[in-house]
Amino acid sequence: MPEVTEQQILDALRCVIDPERHGNIVDLGMVQGVRIKSGHVALSLEVDPQRGPHLEPLRKQVESLVHKLPGVLSASVVLTAERAPRPPVQEGGRPTAGGRSHQAPELLPEVKAIVAVASGKGGVGKSTTAVNLAVALARLGKRTGLLDADIYGPSMRRLLGIAGQPVSSDGSRLDPMERHGVKSMSMAFLVEEETPIVWRGPMVQSALEQMMRDVAWGDLDVLIVDMPPGTGDTQLTMAQRVPLAGAIIVSTPQDIALIDARKGLNMFRKVDVPVLGLIENMSYFLCPKCGERTEIFGHGGARREAEALAMDFLGEVPLDVAIRETSDAGMPIVAAEPEGPHAQTFLAIAEAVWAKVEQSLSRRAASAPRIVVT
Ligand code: ADP
Repeated sequence: MPEVTEQQILDALRCVIDPERHGNIVDLGMVQGVRIKSGHVALSLEVDPQRGPHLEPLRKQVESLVHKLPGVLSASVVLTAERAPRPPVQEGGRPTAGGRSHQAPELLPEVKAIVAVASGKGGVGKSTTAVNLAVALARLGKRTGLLDADIYGPSMRRLLGIAGQPVSSDGSRLDPMERHGVKSMSMAFLVEEETPIVWRGPMVQSALEQMMRDVAWGDLDVLIVDMPPGTGDTQLTMAQRVPLAGAIIVSTPQDIALIDARKGLNMFRKVDVPVLGLIENMSYFLCPKCGERTEIFGHGGARREAEALAMDFLGEVPLDVAIRETSDAGMPIVAAEPEGPHAQTFLAIAEAVWAKVEQSLSRRAASAPRIVVT
């Protein structure tokens, strides 16, 4: 008997109506991942996590219908949870009512966890922290990427000390540039240095998407995304188009108590992205001559503030001229002085971040309805 085709399966499933959404399950985009092998058919029904427990009859109905098709030896249908619906972006970057489009292909499917590093304002050391965190994660053995999402002010060429242009090995996608064990992509690799980039919102959005879709990132455990400062279009695009495992907020002690760090935090919470925690940068001053630690802004404030905001505290990085000098020379301190105290600090932060990422991923998996294979 000829093998059943995906088209025959979809045609048959068009007569199955989702009772609550008033449409057939194929046109509603619920039927995903149809696989056929020697008469054995598997597919998933993508459903809202809250509805999972009620949908067992629907799952069974689909399974028995597929099983009855000619040429089908076995059918297994699983329910999978759609990621929490987020408002799609309208022109101008404002969210609209309703859920995410089913048509938009998932970006970065080969990446296990995408983590945004954000700050309420510029100059707090967000990019420096993102780079050192990425190098530290790579040293922990994680396959790590670093995406510079700051389209207007990309800094990764300087921070990673990367020269030259990316090439394409497969003729269709760009290879990321690799340094210090980290794969990276930045607008800085693609445009002339000093070229002012004057782009409007939708262009920024499509440039960002291209750096995700048209770059051969390969299998990664984690992609660190260095976000531009503040809470503009890029943040919304990333929060809405990309399945972020979570966001990290970088703040200095003097601004954590102020409004800026909270703005960043609230934005991610509003769009349903878990905030993994806070890193305090320039936390205390480490004298390069005598090694004495001076608590310029007092100690423990950020930890307390993080607690008050129900955020985890991931660690503190001192203000040290060595961090600035190495950063500006294209050699992040974790790579420049791998055995030094700053590298140890960043490695500890990377471990804390990875633990939070794993929690976030397993929480996401657990929010899916129980998968039943019969
Ligand atoms: P942002 O991404 O928040 O705008 P950057 O990472 O570009 O900030 O950092 C701003 C400046 O501060 C850079 O010159 C950087 O080298 C320096 N810097 C960042 N963190 C530290 C630190 N912990 N100690 C010393 N200098 C730092």
